[in-house]
Amino acid sequence: MLKHYINIILLVINIFIAYIFFKDTNYFTSYLLFSGLLFFIVVSCGVLFLKFNYFLQSKIKLDTNQCLLTFDDGPDPQFTLKILDILKEENVKSIFFLIGTKVELNPEIVARIKHDGHYIGNHTYHHNNFLSLLSKSTILKEIELGAEAISKITIEEPTFFRPPIGYTNPNYARVLKKLKSINIGWNLRSYDTIYKDPIKFEKRMLRKVKNNDIVLFHDNLEITSLILHSFIKKSKNKGIIFVPLNDNKELFT
Ligand SMILES: [Zn+2]
Repeated sequence: MLKHYINIILLVINIFIAYIFFKDTNYFTSYLLFSGLLFFIVVSCGVLFLKFNYFLQSKIKLDTNQCLLTFDDGPDPQFTLKILDILKEENVKSIFFLIGTKVELNPEIVARIKHDGHYIGNHTYHHNNFLSLLSKSTILKEIELGAEAISKITIEEPTFFRPPIGYTNPNYARVLKKLKSINIGWNLRSYDTIYKDPIKFEKRMLRKVKNNDIVLFHDNLEITSLILHSFIKKSKNKGIIFVPLNDNKELFT
C-alpha cells in the first residue's frame, strides 16, 4: 500500500502546485488534467499488474535458483488428472490455485492433488473476474468461501492465495492482511488461454523458462495438458530445477 499512498501524496502535491503557480494561467486546467491522468494510469497499472506490488506484496519469483509451476482455475474433470499423472511421472511438485465451486464438484480430484504432495491455494469461490471492483466484504466472503470449500476436503486452511486474473485493489490488501494469506503471483505467464497451436506454445515456453521463475499455467486447458510432459522433460535437460513452493514463511518476507 505504500506505493499507493505515495501516489496519492504526489497527486495532492500536484494539485497544490497547480493552485499556487498556475491558478491564473492557461495551464491550470491542463496541469490538473495531466496530474489526474498520471494518477489514474499508475493506479490502473497497480490494479492490473501484480508484479508492481502496488497495493500488496506478492511473491512473483523465487529467491532460490529453481522454478515453480503453478496451475490455476481447476480442479477440472477433463485435464487436471492428466496433469497430475505427468507431474507424478516427472516427480515435480507444484501448486494448484483452486476455484471453490469447482472444488465442491470435484472433491476426489482435490484429494488426489493433496495426496500427490502438491500445495493447494485459494483462487476464490466463484472466480469473479470483476471481484477487484467489488466491496471489501464481498472480497472477504469470496476468499473465505473458497478456503472453506478447500479445507472441507484437505482439513487445512490454504495459506496461499491468487486473485482471479491477478487484479488487486486496496480492499484485497486489507482482506489478505487480515487473513494472513500469502499472495502468489508469477513472472512467467504461459498464455495457455490464448495459444491454439501446441507446438508454438511449447516452443515459446522452452525459450522463456528459467530458474527463479514462477510459471502460470491453467490445468483446465487441453493445450497445457498436451505440452506439459515434453515441456518438463526438455526444461530439465536445459538445467531447470522444478521445486515445490516452500512454505517457510521467511521466504515471503
Ligand atoms: Zn484464474
